[in-house]
Amino acid sequence: MKALVVGAGIAGLVTARQLGLAGWQVELLERSAGPRLDGYMMDFFGPGVDASVRIGLYPRLKATAYRVEAAQYVDAEGRVSASLDYDRFARLAGGKVLSLLRPDMEKAALAALEDVPAGRIRVRYGVGVSGATADDGAVRVSFDGAEAAESAGDVLIGADGIHSSVRSHVFGPEEQYLRPLGMRAAAFIVADPELNGRFRNRFTLSDTIDRTAALYSLRSDEVAALMVYRDNGPLTSGETRRDRLRREFAGLGDAVDRLLKLCPEDPYDDVVAQIVMPRWHTGGAVLVGDACGAVSLLAGQGGSLAIAGAALLGDLLGPANSRAEAEDALAEFERRWRPTVETAQTSGRRAASTFLPANRAQRLLRRWVIRATRLPGVDRLVARQILRTIAT
Ligand SMILES: Cc1cc2nc3c(=O)[nH]c(=O)nc-3n(C[C@H](O)[C@H](O)[C@H](O)COP(=O)(O)OP(=O)(O)OC[C@H]3O[C@@H](n4cnc5c(N)ncnc54)[C@H](O)[C@@H]3O)c2cc1C
Repeated sequence: MKALVVGAGIAGLVTARQLGLAGWQVELLERSAGPRLDGYMMDFFGPGVDASVRIGLYPRLKATAYRVEAAQYVDAEGRVSASLDYDRFARLAGGKVLSLLRPDMEKAALAALEDVPAGRIRVRYGVGVSGATADDGAVRVSFDGAEAAESAGDVLIGADGIHSSVRSHVFGPEEQYLRPLGMRAAAFIVADPELNGRFRNRFTLSDTIDRTAALYSLRSDEVAALMVYRDNGPLTSGETRRDRLRREFAGLGDAVDRLLKLCPEDPYDDVVAQIVMPRWHTGGAVLVGDACGAVSLLAGQGGSLAIAGAALLGDLLGPANSRAEAEDALAEFERRWRPTVETAQTSGRRAASTFLPANRAQRLLRRWVIRATRLPGVDRLVARQILRTIAT
């Protein structure tokens, strides 16, 4: 059996590995020229932890994890206005919370392809899929790239993220499924040894209205930045993404100014949104990860769900020996995985209303809630919700 997997993000890499281990031939097509190096720190807890332990990926992920002591909100002068003890929340989540940099997760999943016997997986970077069909006995994709061409297989797996082109070609246009949450998120990494020394082991967030700048020091001399802000429409004429971030985040103090000065011209900067679809599979095609069920970074579970969903897809599809068996496996995957994704989407939508306070009263409320978590016996669910809201 042969699978065409589109997108070598976390979901695509794990799906490719699991199918390769089950004996499939896999062609993995990725638009970018190599692994994507953008992204911020992501909490890794919940279903992805159990799945990664089961499939043997957990040790690779744990090896890259960062030690976080606290998440703290600061004002423009650098004074801490609210702070959250991270160990306490890790304990409440059963001790199974890792803080992982998104590119490190992708690199770990890529390195894990070496577990698959040689010759089963062909990874092709620089190949952007521009057409896909799954309506007859075989599935086909066409692509641009070094050599414009096409490939065919038994099953097509769209793991190409929130703006999936497999979804557009096989299931219909993005507007039918994208649910914007009213904000954008940008993430980039800059080299700044001085800033790096200032914020070690702490998620630091600006305690601001309508925009939040977050930063975290990496093991090198770098700093990872996440900037979340209200979506006020497209770029104005001649404006770069960096220009827009400089406009949106002006006046937040020295640390943010330094980040903005070093920000690349075209950082990762996307709508914060969910994907909601009535059906994730049709014929021999299926979607996995953000392509079918993006929960938004506010749910704090994108990476975890990508791994768990891909592992389940591999479990169910791996043993299939015919197109008919594969189609049954895709239906079973959707039946079993959909409830988990929908629960996480509900949590992501709830977090959206508290992540960016719209006024002073809402900001004050957030401070009080965070302070209340220091009280003994604080409700476990509240604690988890805050963990998701703050440390995305
Ligand atoms: C650069 C980047 C930075 C991110 N930063 C954060 C973050 O800081 N915090 C957070 O919570 N989430 C972040 N995310 C989202 C997070 O990675 C996902 O929610 C989660 O990992 C699920 O990933 P996925 O594999 O389903 O999709 P993605 O991680 O989006 O991967 C999809 C892959 O498909 C590729 N692709 C897209 N279209 C095509 C095409 N036509 N042909 C071939 N390949 C294609 C993309 O280049 C990408 O590599 C980021 C995603 C990206 C791509």
